[in-house]
Amino acid sequence: MEILHVSAECYPMAKVGGLADVVGSLPKYQNKLGHIAKVVMPMHRTSFLHANEWEVVHKGAFIMGNIPLNFTIIKEKRNQLGFDLYCVDIYGWLDREKVYGYDDDGERYLAFQIAVAEWMVKWNHRPDVINVHDYHAGLIPFMFRHSYAYKNLSNIRTVLTIHNAQYQGWMDWEKSGYIPDWDVWKWGMLDWNGQINPLASAVRCADKVNTVSEGYMKELMNAANGLEKLFEYEKGKCSGILNGIDYSVWDPEKDSFILDNFSTKDADHGKARNKKKLCDEFGLDVQLPLFIFIGRLVAEKAADLLPEAINAAFEQSEEKFNFIVLGNGDPVVEHSLEQIHKTWFGYYHSQIQYNEKLSHQMYAGADFLLMPSRVEPCGLNQLYALRYGTMPVVRRTGGLADTVIDIGDDNGYGICFNNANIQDIVSSIKRAVYLYNHSNTLSKLRLHMMKINNSWEKSAQVYIDLYNSIYK
Ligand code: ADP
Repeated sequence: MEILHVSAECYPMAKVGGLADVVGSLPKYQNKLGHIAKVVMPMHRTSFLHANEWEVVHKGAFIMGNIPLNFTIIKEKRNQLGFDLYCVDIYGWLDREKVYGYDDDGERYLAFQIAVAEWMVKWNHRPDVINVHDYHAGLIPFMFRHSYAYKNLSNIRTVLTIHNAQYQGWMDWEKSGYIPDWDVWKWGMLDWNGQINPLASAVRCADKVNTVSEGYMKELMNAANGLEKLFEYEKGKCSGILNGIDYSVWDPEKDSFILDNFSTKDADHGKARNKKKLCDEFGLDVQLPLFIFIGRLVAEKAADLLPEAINAAFEQSEEKFNFIVLGNGDPVVEHSLEQIHKTWFGYYHSQIQYNEKLSHQMYAGADFLLMPSRVEPCGLNQLYALRYGTMPVVRRTGGLADTVIDIGDDNGYGICFNNANIQDIVSSIKRAVYLYNHSNTLSKLRLHMMKINNSWEKSAQVYIDLYNSIYK
């Protein structure tokens, strides 16, 4: 089977969050299963782009509304990622440094999708399945079915994978002329509450829809940023497939980012060595339990609660602990997190930035990873933490509830709480500190965590089964 993934992100070419990790690893594992999986994404101006060699495989042009655009499809020459990676270059539109956050993101991603469709109609062979990821590729199923120019693509199976339903790519109807000429009787396939909604359109038009955990799929029926009724209505074609992690990137035994490699054979010593280096670097006492938070500083991750919760935990806990935060996002939260240094100097450190290497070092050196998320479609951080023997402290939501079992339950290996509020976060931190100081089970639990198999192997096959369940 040949599968083409269409995505805004793909690690290591461009990464903002978990979408990149998934699109950078799932195709590799699908190839290992004997299929041919490829990725096409926008040509962001990243260090990976500059560090690698590319060949031009297609050039074309189209008119979006009344804007004439030329595009080029380039392919990474050496198959560095274990799958063919194609990038779409549209001068001035896609070749920017940041992945998202521009006022014209709606138009940029529409232009990206039209370029992909234009390329596909000219391509001399067809993939069996197009797997589109999130709203950035959400208009492709509609265009393949209802844009006249792409009629001969209409028998390609389409699957929408939802990594995050908060962002839907809303566009005013004034922009409907940007979509290549389409059957106006089908306007209802684009509309949701008076706007063009690319995510809603993909839910309607794709053959199958999946989220990145089963728990998140269930939650979308009740909370989907306005699309609840749509998910309820379309539930017959919706399912959840838990993300895996890329064992070739996230492996404490071989990880070149971490300071000292380790495995289950020397987990306690290995972690201690990494913790020491991390604590030395940030001036923290290595004897104390070390908590970390890594992530986008946005409301979904409950990052707004972190400053107050961390301060309250420092004040209320009778036993001392350390906390390191790595993240960026909301400037108000960034500022408040930086202020904590003043009061808790020597126990707290924050790095307000995106830093892939440091994130690996933190997963390797920490004792506990805090994830108080309000919404968590799957969550990869807790899976990386488990692999590196760091205990997840998580709110029971979405994929976190699917992947972490509380130490109070049978076979448990994490700390779980119910509410994204200060009180629950503080008491969970205290519970973790108590475990660290007064129990001799941490070392055994660490081995248990590290041995849990969260690799892509199983889920990659479930995707293939999903594609196979579509008949055309
Ligand atoms: P989301 O996709 O919602 O951001 P996930 O848990 O699915 O959340 O994936 C987050 C990914 O992004 C993980 O690989 C995590 O390590 C990484 N990440 C997030 N913020 C940072 C940061 N500031 N520096 C380095 N890595 C980060």
